[in-house]
Amino acid sequence: MKKSAVEIREDLKVHVDFLSEAGAGFVLRRPGDEVTPTPVGNEAPVPRGPASTLPALAGRPAPTAAERKALEEIDRQVLACTLCVLHKFRTHAVPGEGNRSADLMFIGEGPGRDEDAQGRPFVGRAGQLLRKIIAAMTFREDEVYITNMVKCRPPDNRVPHGDETEACLPYLIRQIELIRPRVIVTLGRTPTDYFVPGREGMTVRRGHFGDYRGIPVMPTFHPSYLVRNEGNRELRRMVWEDMKKVMTLLGRK
Ligand code: URA
Ligand code: SF4
Repeated sequence: MKKSAVEIREDLKVHVDFLSEAGAGFVLRRPGDEVTPTPVGNEAPVPRGPASTLPALAGRPAPTAAERKALEEIDRQVLACTLCVLHKFRTHAVPGEGNRSADLMFIGEGPGRDEDAQGRPFVGRAGQLLRKIIAAMTFREDEVYITNMVKCRPPDNRVPHGDETEACLPYLIRQIELIRPRVIVTLGRTPTDYFVPGREGMTVRRGHFGDYRGIPVMPTFHPSYLVRNEGNRELRRMVWEDMKKVMTLLGRK
């Protein structure tokens, strides 16, 4: 018998919660793994102040065929891009993936080792957790769009530098303009610093909608932070609270 969305969500929520206790299989670091450091007090010159001069994107019609084509063209440009030094270290650039008319868009920091190897966003351990969160929100992966602030992996998974973020930003902005999601979720500090600028830590900034050209932006913790703090159920609870606000806005209960 087909499960209702509510049942599926509850199953998956239990699963996500379960991972915090028993998820050693995928949350344990493998030897030699790099983890993205949490930038504490990092005041790198990430471009600030989303342009209030740019046209509003909220309430615009779904992307046209031409706009979908334009998104494919962005992918091609990213794959060949040499605009910043990160191109030198990559195996594959990672433009993003998902539904080109998604209501919901997730923005991470940048590809890690697994993403660089596969050319796909969020496929490593943090990615598996993100994908479980998406499922727990009752979204299929092919309903949402997932991408990153920078499209090439920073060496040793360091935080991208301001000039790298700045060089890469036009791709992301164009993706947002073409997809016009109804809600954006920023994962961790790097995308949050751009879309919902603030000086406080993520603990303060998460859970409150910001605004990017009329699109509500929900900052939350990066899934790799949850993976690194796997025993911390409170962090998971907070992310789930944030995602419930997003679900409410999108009419998913
Ligand atoms: N972390 C990110 O920020 N993005 C990815 O795609 C994977 C891990
Ligand atoms: Fe180009 Fe962005 Fe890759 Fe830098 S990170 S080379 S700007 S695609």
